[in-house]
Amino acid sequence: MQTKILRRYLMVEKVVSARNLTKTFGKVVALKNVSFDVDRGEFFLIIGPSGCGKTTLLRCLAGLETPDSGHIFIGGKNVEGVPTRERDISLVFQNLALFPHKNVYDNIAFGLRMRKTPEDVVRNKVENIMKIFGLEGIENRLPEKLSAGQRQRIALARSTIIGPSVIFFDEPLGNIDYRLRKKLELELKLIHKKLGLTFIYVTHDQEQAMTLATKIMVMNYGVIEQIGSPTEIYSNPSTVFVAKFFGDINMLSGEIASKGNGMATIKTDVGTFEARLVNDVVEKKIAYAIRPEKTYIGASANEFENKTEGKIISIFNKGSYFEYVAQLPNGVEFKSVSQKQAIPIDQAQMRVEVLLGWSSSDALLLEKPSVVPGINIDKVILGA
Ligand code: ATP
Repeated sequence: MQTKILRRYLMVEKVVSARNLTKTFGKVVALKNVSFDVDRGEFFLIIGPSGCGKTTLLRCLAGLETPDSGHIFIGGKNVEGVPTRERDISLVFQNLALFPHKNVYDNIAFGLRMRKTPEDVVRNKVENIMKIFGLEGIENRLPEKLSAGQRQRIALARSTIIGPSVIFFDEPLGNIDYRLRKKLELELKLIHKKLGLTFIYVTHDQEQAMTLATKIMVMNYGVIEQIGSPTEIYSNPSTVFVAKFFGDINMLSGEIASKGNGMATIKTDVGTFEARLVNDVVEKKIAYAIRPEKTYIGASANEFENKTEGKIISIFNKGSYFEYVAQLPNGVEFKSVSQKQAIPIDQAQMRVEVLLGWSSSDALLLEKPSVVPGINIDKVILGA
């Protein structure tokens, strides 16, 4: 009996599940065998380059597009043939589109009225949700008379009032300027946490992904490259594509020379380096990578077991940190960031020789270029 209850509980915890979704548009394969689960309370973020299938996936989940094959479960129920309005979901589109001619109250009440909810229940619920979202006293205002923060809260209040299992967002902060976007991101994150809602959020902005998500799904050419927490994706990318897509990374093409005692020695055309073996590697040809914040430059580089020389080509004072770019003898550029100034700024003009160093335990070994078949590893390593 207990096992049965536990099983049911676990099933309900998966708010959205996709199984082997495939969607084509003529010859374009927008989604290919896509399967994943989204747990209750997750801020599940879908990211990938333009055209990788993010919007198509969201539209399939929302019932705005029909997959060619595969299944979608929302709240444990197969939603094949179920129209959008009956899927127990809400949608927030680009720029948080509110009804411009409806006041705040009517915007928020919209979903309930569509469901023929009695007006006294609507009033109760709208007043309640306006309190939760800190929108009291502005019910009669039109959206144009509100701040961007208030508009975002109204869009969210409008979406949550119908009590959906999940809210879908398609680049809601796409065209908003940087400073305001950062403010709205923070607010969105706080609301998500406070209300324990389940969000599925599409973006191509990796900084946004790191800030907002509890889980990230990286897509490429209609397939899933990796699913994991922001830390997992950043610190333990499973492919070269993911490593390069997420943040800056220094990367060299190399070959495994030897392995043993949890360490590997890698030969590259600028030297032989070491890496701690976190996952075993079977391929000889690999990508050897280090994040800029783990790459030290100047005198401090001496302390590390891995060192190489380069010519410093630029130094940027970014306010709270310095960013250095050095060119290695093979032409590859290595970046280092640090809070302290390691090299005088004028040395960049003189292309002074500098030492770069890093710890073997911070180096990443990546043998898989991408989950997309037929992609050459050197092409991804060298790619922008
Ligand atoms: P972006 O970040 O640029 O919005 P995306 O990752 O959301 O891209 P999709 O919009 O899902 O990508 O598109 C995936 C692929 O499917 C692209 O090659 C796109 O051109 C194609 N596609 C999407 N919708 C249609 C359609 N209605 N008709 C034809 N092709 C389509």
